[in-house]
Amino acid sequence: MSRYLGPSCRLCRREGMKLMLKGPRCETAKCAVEKRERSMAPGQHGWRRGRASDYGVRLRETQKVKRYYGLMAKQFRKYFVMAQKGTGNTGEILLELLERRLDNVIYKLNFAPSRKAARQLVAHGHIYLNGRRVDIPDIMVKIGDTITLKNSDHSRKAVKAQLEANPNFQVQGWLQLDPSKPMATVVSLPTRDDVQLAVEEQLVVEFCSR
Ligand code: SF4
Repeated sequence: MSRYLGPSCRLCRREGMKLMLKGPRCETAKCAVEKRERSMAPGQHGWRRGRASDYGVRLRETQKVKRYYGLMAKQFRKYFVMAQKGTGNTGEILLELLERRLDNVIYKLNFAPSRKAARQLVAHGHIYLNGRRVDIPDIMVKIGDTITLKNSDHSRKAVKAQLEANPNFQVQGWLQLDPSKPMATVVSLPTRDDVQLAVEEQLVVEFCSR
């Protein structure tokens, strides 16, 4: 599956908000969105950001979601089709489905500093789901799933270092973490309130339903 390989900060500058794509750097003054001279949209005409059309507003909201979760258009479409089949608010279901991706869960457990790093952790086989090795970052977790690490010093060292670097990290209520092992359990499904991205999901639905 293809993925974006360009500069991450460029994506935040385009959306005009912090998408937290680079881990600890996002919390520092080095963040491009924090710097006045780098906070404009990228490109030669970035300073000329005019009034967006209705289409433009909806496009930007959709791009925010895709970039936040590191998805390309085709992958995102798959989630939208799944959300449409659900009963309830399509926009909320869409975000809840995305939140259940294994790479996002690994990030939310503080096993990795960013979703990109979490994705790599999974793809390189460091993560076990229900006792079985998995290497597919888009697996969707369900209630009762347990997440552990591969029984190797290399896997444990990387995750323990991340957990120790951020001891005050608050794991969301739908996940239960035992940092001593480390091992986590999915105790409930995430809700819209667990999604930390400021986005108007209704505009995303309107864009995708064109
Ligand atoms: Fe975005 Fe992080 Fe780069 Fe800031 S440092 S622009 S939040 S990726």
